[in-house]
Amino acid sequence: MATVASAGMAGPEQFMATSGATDPVWVHTEPYNKRPQFSKLSQDLETDVCIVGSGVAGISTAYELVTRGLNVVMIEARDILSGETGRTSGHLSSMLSEGFTDIAKKHGDKGAIMAAESHQYAIDRVGEISKKLGIDCEYRKMNAYEISKYPRSDPKHKDDVEELKEEVAKMKAIGMTADFKEGFAIPGWDGKIDQRDAMIIGNQATFHPTKYFLGVLKWLKDQPNFSCYTHTRMMDLQEKGIEIMGMGSKEVKITTEAGNTITCKNAVEATCIPLQKLSVVAEMEFMRTYCIAIRVPKNYIEDCLIYDTEDAYKYVRFTACDSKDDYLVIGGCDHKVGQEGGAEDRFAELEDWVRERFTRAGSVDYKWSGQVFESKDFVAFIGTNQGMKHTYVATGDCGNGLTHYVMAGKLIADEIQGVDNPWAKLYNPSRLASIVKSLPSMISHDLQINAQYKRFLQSDIKDIEDLAPGTGGVLNPTLKMPIAVYKDEQGNVTKRSALCPHLKGVVCWNHLEKSWDCPVHGSRFSKEGICLIGPSKGNLSAAG
Ligand SMILES: Cc1cc2nc3c(=O)[nH]c(=O)nc-3n(C[C@H](O)[C@H](O)[C@H](O)COP(=O)(O)OP(=O)(O)OC[C@H]3O[C@@H](n4cnc5c(N)ncnc54)[C@H](O)[C@@H]3O)c2cc1C
Repeated sequence: MATVASAGMAGPEQFMATSGATDPVWVHTEPYNKRPQFSKLSQDLETDVCIVGSGVAGISTAYELVTRGLNVVMIEARDILSGETGRTSGHLSSMLSEGFTDIAKKHGDKGAIMAAESHQYAIDRVGEISKKLGIDCEYRKMNAYEISKYPRSDPKHKDDVEELKEEVAKMKAIGMTADFKEGFAIPGWDGKIDQRDAMIIGNQATFHPTKYFLGVLKWLKDQPNFSCYTHTRMMDLQEKGIEIMGMGSKEVKITTEAGNTITCKNAVEATCIPLQKLSVVAEMEFMRTYCIAIRVPKNYIEDCLIYDTEDAYKYVRFTACDSKDDYLVIGGCDHKVGQEGGAEDRFAELEDWVRERFTRAGSVDYKWSGQVFESKDFVAFIGTNQGMKHTYVATGDCGNGLTHYVMAGKLIADEIQGVDNPWAKLYNPSRLASIVKSLPSMISHDLQINAQYKRFLQSDIKDIEDLAPGTGGVLNPTLKMPIAVYKDEQGNVTKRSALCPHLKGVVCWNHLEKSWDCPVHGSRFSKEGICLIGPSKGNLSAAG
């Protein structure tokens, strides 16, 4: 296990298995070497649908299409589940991050109803599929509790709780089962801090994400109309041909890094973020979020989901550890990608939060971070990509990517088959009305993104000698291009161009994950320069 302490030693193979030097708790029972292997694509192919990316969006869409009889080819740039799905925290919740009061302001009550309904569908769908395929993945239904971030002794607690009550009223008005319980204390909470009073939502769920997705993938692997190729990076996607008013036909051509072509009727970019210059990319913020897994005795705390009302809210769930303990997994402390450091402080904040509330908590065994994408109007972009006819995207998770993208499987499969889907309008990547309502926050986001180009004039280090072993920094020689320099534990130096291939932002060193993160649109690269997450398609180029 590459714990935080040993993360600096992580070799290049670590970044084929996952998007950082740290490991998520899921490898405790499902190590990377138990994952099914696939070969690299070495020929041209034709198929009905090509899916790019093997996370929740790719696997869920493949499942829906394969069961409907379509031929599906999935390609993955690294190993399967190496993206954010392998690093998630695994809440299956219809309690969306921004709340239904705010969602209704952007999308109307009808939109809020569609959001609630579609996320509940996803929660239930994971249960149905795991039962049907016999996947033992810790899937279980439970309550979710949202509590005030302020203790009862703080005068702000009262106002905060009023907002929770309003949210409960909104949820009830749109047909959800929600309740507010004055004085409710989460069973097992034995710390001195008193945050009683809670919003309670039933019919939520949790699971072991990698056990579930590997189970679905193993089933897919046995289907004659499915094939998967790993270490096969898409470098180009183009729709070719002419299609006007139902006349003529278009096909999609995908070109891989090795130069092979996949020709298909439809393509799905399930790459977490579409690999393109802007459009939906400009309508999202890119956040890093942090998680720890801490031992707690079995049956000490109610098996539930917990959230608080912080902006960068804490999120809590439980997963199996051994015969004596479970893991309490807590996440939160989000910040913009590449724009704020201090991972250890964030982990300490998460650990203190748990210890002050659950006094029997034991050791912290896993610490990791990951990336989430927040659309400016609080729901994901799922469906035909802007300006395209046969290319679909699923992006802008808003911290609820699991439910958004399990549901995307059905929505995209319906759209490909021409089946009307009532949720399509809400998630349409070309929607305008709700985006226009978000213009003020988009403008301030754009200004702050443009400000990140200031790194062009900065140098993290003056000399390679300045770098401690196991660290990186940007060397910005005057009048030359900035260089991303990494020095390994033995003192060997790797140099890559520090310019992100997407829109030429200067990358920042992420010390926790040993990666280069672009503060402009969130692309990330391993310490060797391998692209881990877009919108960049390719790796950092050689230092000029
Ligand atoms: C710490 C953390 C906690 C979270 N907790 C929750 C939660 O509790 N509940 C919830 O609903 N959501 C949660 N989320 C969000 C959710 O996990 C993500 O939104 C979701 O997993 C993203 O899935 P995906 O399939 O879109 O992308 P990914 O899982 O990232 O998969 C994309 C894949 O595409 C591949 N790829 C990229 N570029 C290319 C290319 N050019 N060619 C081929 N392949 C390529 C990548 O290698 C990757 O494997 C959390 C996220 C994080 C990071």
